[in-house]
This record gives sequence, structure tokens and C-alpha cells, in this order.
Amino acid sequence: MDRCMECGEEPVYKYLGKVYCSKHFTKYFEDKTLETISKYKLLRRGEHVVIAVSGGKDSLSLLYILNKYRERLGIRVTALLIDEGIKGYRDITIEDFKEVNKRINAEYRLISYEDVFGLSLDDILKLSREKGLPTYACSYCGVFRRYLLNLGARVIGGDVLATAHNLDDIIQTYLLNIFTNSIERILHLHPRTESASHIKFIHRVKPFYEVLEMETTLYAIINGLYPRFIECPYAPEAFRNDIRSFINQLEEENPGIKYKILNSLLATLERYGSKEPPRINSCRICGEPTSQEICRTCRYLENLGLLNNLKIWINEVGQL
Ligand SMILES: [Zn+2]
Ligand SMILES: [Zn+2]
Repeated sequence: MDRCMECGEEPVYKYLGKVYCSKHFTKYFEDKTLETISKYKLLRRGEHVVIAVSGGKDSLSLLYILNKYRERLGIRVTALLIDEGIKGYRDITIEDFKEVNKRINAEYRLISYEDVFGLSLDDILKLSREKGLPTYACSYCGVFRRYLLNLGARVIGGDVLATAHNLDDIIQTYLLNIFTNSIERILHLHPRTESASHIKFIHRVKPFYEVLEMETTLYAIINGLYPRFIECPYAPEAFRNDIRSFINQLEEENPGIKYKILNSLLATLERYGSKEPPRINSCRICGEPTSQEICRTCRYLENLGLLNNLKIWINEVGQL
């Protein structure tokens, strides 16, 4: 039976000829992440890095590793969790989030839909149904979450927002956008978002760009970060799940194909991705960055009759 190629101990990881015990897998994983950070110049010394934590294993792993190496990287780290207010799901992940932050001694912040919009996602969906609006939980959530991550990172005083997208997430999004002919979106899949064209837009970085989902999972398990297995009760993106199974099946028959798909994306970005960043406007209502005249958050809130709550909150927090 194979043993760890570094020390001969019991292995926990075998992939493409590499065999590691938990100690040497940890070293491999952390080295790879730190290499990604330096290769793509994701973080600079002195930066305040806000980590977008969903509460799942990937984002807790990202928090854990950036917090562990914050001194070496010369950065300050704050974990930011957006509380949508989903009963039976978010309340539980918040407990785990606080427990992890306490254990690793990390700074954290919570921002809730209820604070900013006046209602939880559960209540927004109820209201939306009453008003006869389309009630897709994930479309509200996707828009509001992105909005609050950017706004929240700024409220905290962050310079950059780090997200835990791993290699699997990235190539899924790549193929998904090929299949749906959303070529523009592919150009946003860079490990560091380029657009500096709006003063209120916080840069995004993806330190897990080159690590696999199974690797972040293993890292989370080894470091005791595996939260209770609990999924969001609202329906997941079905098409993304199909793409995920498709890629995993390809990988089984062609080990290493995931790296090849990532290389294809990197070549595409190299060739077409250096275009001028798209022009970003300021939303006429809230002033946040948007590609339209009025941002989608404001449009949703207007339809729901909740726009005033956002205005009050922004006023309270002050001019950002
Ligand atoms: Zn070993
Ligand atoms: Zn707006």
C-alpha cells in the first residue's frame, strides 16, 4: 500500500502520483495557496483583507489559512458573514462561524438582511409572494449577497475582498458560461478582478484559484473546520450541479483534466481578458457601483416596497 512520499506515514491524500499524510498534505495545500497569492499578486503587504465567509468548508478554510499566515503576508484579516436570515440553516452556520473565529482568534463581522433591508430573506420571499412577484430565493440572494459583501467590506474598511472559490467552482462557471453563451462573464473569472473603475468597488481575489474542491474539503476536515452538514433549504442551481457531475465524470476517466480546463480559461483570459474594464456607473438611488442606471438591489427593493429601509441604513452608516 502507498505511504506518504515525504515521511512514509499513513496517507490521507492520493492524486496524480502524489501521496501525502495529513501533515504533508497540509504543507502541500498551504504552499499551493501561498504560491497562488504570490503568482497572481493577489495581496499586498499592509492590506486589510475582508474574507467573504458563507459558513461552508471552503470559506472557513480560507479564513483559517489567511489568518494563520496573516503576519507572514503582512495583512490584517476580518471575516465577514452575510446573515440572510434563513431559519434552520443560517442560524446554525452562524454558531459554527463564531466558534471557529473564537478558536483561531480572528476578527469577524456579521451583516444581516434584516439590519439593512428591514426583513430577512424568509420574510422577503413571503412578501414577494404576496405581491405576486417572481420569488426565486437564489436570484434575490445572489444579488443582495454580492451587494452586501461589497458594501460590508467597505464599512469594515477593507482594501480587498477574498472569496473562497476553488478550482472546481471556477471551471464550472467557465463551462456554464460557455454553454449559456455568456462570454463577457468569463472575462470576470480572473484570480484578481481588474476593475478599478469605480471608487466604491472593492477588488476581489480568489486565493483558492488553483486548489481542488476535494483538497479544500480535506484541509477543512484535518483542521476541524468541517461544519455540521447542513444545506441551504432553497433550491440550488440545477444546471451548475449537472456541470459539476459532468466535470467530475470527465476527471475520473482523465485524471488531471480539471487543470487542463483551468489552463484553457487562463489562456482565454490572457488573450481577451486585458480589455479595458467595463464602465461602471453609480446607482442613481444608492450610489453603489452598477452596470445599469439603477442597481438590481434597488430595483428589487423598490418592487418590494423596502427601498426606504436601505436609505435609512446607508444614512446611519454615513457617507461611504
Ligand atoms: Zn508525511
Ligand atoms: Zn442601488
